[in-house]
Amino acid sequence: ILSVKNLTKKFKRVVVNNISFDVEKGNVYGLLGPNGSGKSTTFGMLLSTINPTSGDWFWFGKKGTDAETLKRIGAIIEQPNFYPYLSAETNLKIVAEIKGTPHSRIDEVLQTVGLLERKKDTFKTFSLGMKQRLAIASSLLNNPEVLILDEPTNGLDPEGIIQIREIIGTIAKQGITIIIASHLLDEIEKICSHVIVLKDGDAIYSGLVDGMTSNSGYFELKADNNALL
Ligand code: ATP
Ligand code: MG
Repeated sequence: ILSVKNLTKKFKRVVVNNISFDVEKGNVYGLLGPNGSGKSTTFGMLLSTINPTSGDWFWFGKKGTDAETLKRIGAIIEQPNFYPYLSAETNLKIVAEIKGTPHSRIDEVLQTVGLLERKKDTFKTFSLGMKQRLAIASSLLNNPEVLILDEPTNGLDPEGIIQIREIIGTIAKQGITIIIASHLLDEIEKICSHVIVLKDGDAIYSGLVDGMTSNSGYFELKADNNALL
């Protein structure tokens, strides 16, 4: 579904250094690395919002900048702007209009994220976790084949985190390929089958989560993460 070849981004210094990896359909991939390791910059390049310094990437076998490609990808890179005084349902109707997708999908995506019963409630009454779930619902409206999530559980309380993780599992079961950035090893181990580990812009591991423990950087990462928690 995605093939990344020698992708590099240099701002003042190199923040993504010659990374290569492949993403195959139907799996949940983690892009794991501490703060500043280049996760969001990588996503920015894959979504054509950041211009790479060098390298290539291919979505569905076509050059990543192909105009038709973005329609097939759902992404939440930062919280989208919803209208605070409108209901969840009305907010999604507005997004559906913009994306040109039928309103008939709205109940379905609200169901997926567990917000169907709350669809008449105004956005401003939602908890942070519910807002994040509505963002996920919104990104599912146009039936994407791939979903990219940048730190979707950041700032959520434990219950909110569990809900988001469950929803990611549900979406994966629907056959949507998911790529999720996180700085939490524990999170990636819980929800991903595959992982790309970034450290200072280098991809130091790419493969099955199960194989990660044999990587030399693993225990260092685990120690860093334990320090974070
Ligand atoms: P976080 O966990 O904090 O979200 P990240 O892994 O997503 O981190 P990036 O946001 O990709 O990391 O940033 C990687 C490095 O690139 C950081 O050192 C950051 O300061 C730098 N950087 C990001 N965007 C720019 C920019 N527009 N101009 C200059 N430097 C940038
Ligand atoms: Mg980031």
